[in-house]
Amino acid sequence: MNERGAAQRKASVRDVRRANRALLLRHLLFSGETSRASLGEETSLSPATVTTLVGELIAEGTVVERGQSDSPGGRPRTLLAVNPEAAVVFGADVGENRVSVQAFDLTMRRLASREYQFAGRRIAPAHVTKLVDEYVTSMRAELGPRGDGSERRVLGLGLGVPGIVEHPESAAGAPDPAVEPIVHAQVVGWETETFAPLARRLGFPVLIDNGAKTTTQAESWFGSAKGVEHGVVVFIGDGAGAGIITNGRLYRGSSSSAGEWGHTKISLDGVRCRCGSQGCVETFVGASAVLERWRGRDEAWRGRESTGVDELFAAYRNGEESARSALHGLVDHLGLALANLVNLYNPQQVVVAGWFGDRIVSEFLADLRAAVRRYSLPQPGAEVVVERSTLGPEIAALGAATLPLDHFIEHGWGL
Ligand SMILES: [Zn+2]
Repeated sequence: MNERGAAQRKASVRDVRRANRALLLRHLLFSGETSRASLGEETSLSPATVTTLVGELIAEGTVVERGQSDSPGGRPRTLLAVNPEAAVVFGADVGENRVSVQAFDLTMRRLASREYQFAGRRIAPAHVTKLVDEYVTSMRAELGPRGDGSERRVLGLGLGVPGIVEHPESAAGAPDPAVEPIVHAQVVGWETETFAPLARRLGFPVLIDNGAKTTTQAESWFGSAKGVEHGVVVFIGDGAGAGIITNGRLYRGSSSSAGEWGHTKISLDGVRCRCGSQGCVETFVGASAVLERWRGRDEAWRGRESTGVDELFAAYRNGEESARSALHGLVDHLGLALANLVNLYNPQQVVVAGWFGDRIVSEFLADLRAAVRRYSLPQPGAEVVVERSTLGPEIAALGAATLPLDHFIEHGWGL
């Protein structure tokens, strides 16, 4: 074998090893305690490979042994689990009106949280950087050292933002701590921004992605879409977005803007959207758009749309005709917009999330399911299950924290 052939072989052995390690670690993270033998059965890796890789994971402190279980053959098996204390992971999410920052252990159990509310849908990137830095510092102080007195290791921070995040030099188009992403988030007034100062201030890796994508990853790892190979998660607040899961992984498109479902058109005219166009899904299903259809432009609700939505639902329950018409129109248009996703992607499941999405499905899930069936092609429409998100509105920071965790699973400690 020539030198180049040998180098290539060495690289591919390393790649296989890394992929096998990632496979074991994903299994341990998402399936909980298990034995070496079950890990081998479920991942189809050989007993020797499992023993070697588990040995390495234990040596680096990522995995711990957790006593014994009875096996069918009578011989007790040692149970393995991810060590929650191995590292702290931070997740930060910038939404339409709040910045949420949370700390998690390595099994994604929430350890601490901070939140900042802002009005008028405007917050400067420099302000976000300052807030995240302050909150991370105060949460680290709150958590203190590990049980044995040693300092807590930090895996990194994931930042979810309400816009398009380009990763121009990243091969997979996915977040990479070595690549500086470019963020476009009109909803909070960001044209073209970067967050380079944040990683410098924190002193550990920062990974950035669109909030709908990070949250979809959390739904697919821990929530309603767990284990779903082909699914769509839609987020409805004041805006609307979607995350698409194909073959169990997040679909990004060529420059990571896939999932901008809120700006697909379902009408040739109508209200102008903040993207500059007309007829966007967002102008039919977004909270302020629906409130505007009900009562006309009412500045009193600006920045406090959830109060407006409470009033709308109360009026509906009181039998007010205008509220009934606004909500039925909403469910009909949402059903239509979801049916377009069903026809395009043939998902097994559509999860409805986001604060306003949650309000809609808490009241109208059956009507929404009927509308989706009405507007979908018969076969994919009959197969798809429309569900309410089980993770709730607190999911955003958890979603962001899956970015450094995902990178760690794939690449190990060398972030
Ligand atoms: Zn639009």
